[in-house]
Amino acid sequence: MTQDGETTLTGAAAAGQTGARAAHPEGSGEAWTEARRLIDGWKGGVNIAHEALDRHVAAGHGGDLAIRWLGKSGERRDLSYADLTAEASRFANVLMDHGLRPGESVFAMAGRVPELYAAALGTLKAGMIFTPLFSAFGPEPVRTRMEIGGANVLVTTESIYRRKIASWAGEIPTLKLILILGDAAPEGCVALGPAMAAAPPEFETVATGPDDPALIHFTSGTTGKPKGAVHVHKAVLYHAYSGRKALGLEPGVKYWCTADPGWVTGTSYGIIAPLVNRVTMLIDEAEFDLDRWYSTVQDERVEVWYSAPTAIRMMMREGAEAAAPYDFSSLQFLASVGEPLNPEAVVWSEKVFGQPFHDNWWQTETGGIMIANRPGMTVKPGSMGQPLPGIEAGIVESEDGTLRELPPGEIGELALRPGWPSMMRAYLHEQARYDKCFVDGWYLSGDLAMRDADGYFWFVGRADDLIKTSGHLIGPFEVESALIEHDAVAEAGVIGVPHETAGEIVKAYVTLNPGVTPSDDLERDIRGHARKRLGPAVAPREVVFRKTLPKTRSGKIMRRLLKARELGLPEGDISTLETDET
Ligand code: ATP
Ligand code: MG
Repeated sequence: MTQDGETTLTGAAAAGQTGARAAHPEGSGEAWTEARRLIDGWKGGVNIAHEALDRHVAAGHGGDLAIRWLGKSGERRDLSYADLTAEASRFANVLMDHGLRPGESVFAMAGRVPELYAAALGTLKAGMIFTPLFSAFGPEPVRTRMEIGGANVLVTTESIYRRKIASWAGEIPTLKLILILGDAAPEGCVALGPAMAAAPPEFETVATGPDDPALIHFTSGTTGKPKGAVHVHKAVLYHAYSGRKALGLEPGVKYWCTADPGWVTGTSYGIIAPLVNRVTMLIDEAEFDLDRWYSTVQDERVEVWYSAPTAIRMMMREGAEAAAPYDFSSLQFLASVGEPLNPEAVVWSEKVFGQPFHDNWWQTETGGIMIANRPGMTVKPGSMGQPLPGIEAGIVESEDGTLRELPPGEIGELALRPGWPSMMRAYLHEQARYDKCFVDGWYLSGDLAMRDADGYFWFVGRADDLIKTSGHLIGPFEVESALIEHDAVAEAGVIGVPHETAGEIVKAYVTLNPGVTPSDDLERDIRGHARKRLGPAVAPREVVFRKTLPKTRSGKIMRRLLKARELGLPEGDISTLETDET
């Protein structure tokens, strides 16, 4: 600890962090006063795990249910706040017993099992920095991330270790400890089961400072090589606040966030925001399965459900009939993030669940939900909603080297006024790139959007994905949304392809609903439908049928890959690629 109570940083995290924090003063105002009331504070500073666990136990809520875990093969496990606190404490003790110290970096790569959650919270309790990775990542993406993040500890399973890590683990100079879930471990690793059993279930949470790093999240890799965004303990103010405001998380609410902690959503809103707000969270180890999901919502009486467009489109693909036998009466609030939520999906979900999915927008970099259709707000299907109170968002354009805010109705880059508590503090080892995000008092998101006269924001596309055709600027989202309104189309990815006279032309890749056979007639019909909806200038000139679209592990369509393949260009970083059949 330094004298002002801040944890000393070590390794790569320190390198990424240096110099980043003074530039953006903490925001002030009513919203943050309200946010501060939702948290407790710890020894003159703040610690995420204290807010998520310790203080609830201290206040007599240790018996409340924190996690209901549903295993892949039908197992179930309930952990109360007291149980989870004890597990996290044991994990923190294991780290300390192996000589690890606050500020060191802990990576985890495991499925959604209770140990993963205990590891996340135990790491934070110990004042160390947590980085979750998708368990399905291949060896190379894991290795690069561990190198970039200066990993000191890896928590994983024996199978992942043997298949993906053993051959190179010895070459990571920072790596001191490999913890293997379960009772046995390969040579050179430590079995976590016995280590946890031997560790005391009490651990005094480390007194971290508000700006001490807590989490490193790698971005999804949709537009290029993933960046490692550093987040600090103070972010918990915003997790608490946005969980309450944007999702309606209150003590006792039954909540299911379907995101994996390997993606920022699965940590900010799959671990921290729910626990800080003392909800009961459901964790499903299994991957998407329509009947399993519907039965889970029904049987567990889920009240708040946070998911993503890719999953919603999978539900839509199976039709409203598949949902009809289930009782969804417990659902009170549905939210979606990660990609634009097509208006069709909003209307469909209202019909099927009695509640629309509420779109909200944020990024790994923002650490929390920035723009949302909050509970009680009128939803305009296709809009991301409005900035949360305390968040100032604008649509900006660069003019003669300075930024100008655009009036309602105009399309520009979506920007935020820096200073909200969960803002990233660095891109690891990419200071110049980080600095470039901040211009003239704005944080630039890299997304294009429009604000309407009522203050609702509408997503247009990633700056990189914009299509310029015959003098028109087209966002792929509007074309994709029109395409999926066609009865045959399940999903669509739209790109611009260079063209001699038009500059670019619009080309669409689509997947079809079950039972639909691709044909030239169908292709014509889909193009005709798009032309009717969008006009000939915007409608795709060509529609190609695909079995799947390339997506990131967080479920985002990778248009840059469609484009690279179309043009025969190098594919670039594909470390986060999930589905890939043509
Ligand atoms: P990378 O930065 O590595 O290219 P990424 O931007 O996809 O990947 P994330 O931080 O996981 O990584 O995703 C944030 C992005 O996801 C946003 O910038 C935006 O483009 C998209 N996004 C998130 N929510 C929404 C939404 N509700 N509507 C439209 N787009 C969204
Ligand atoms: Mg991004």
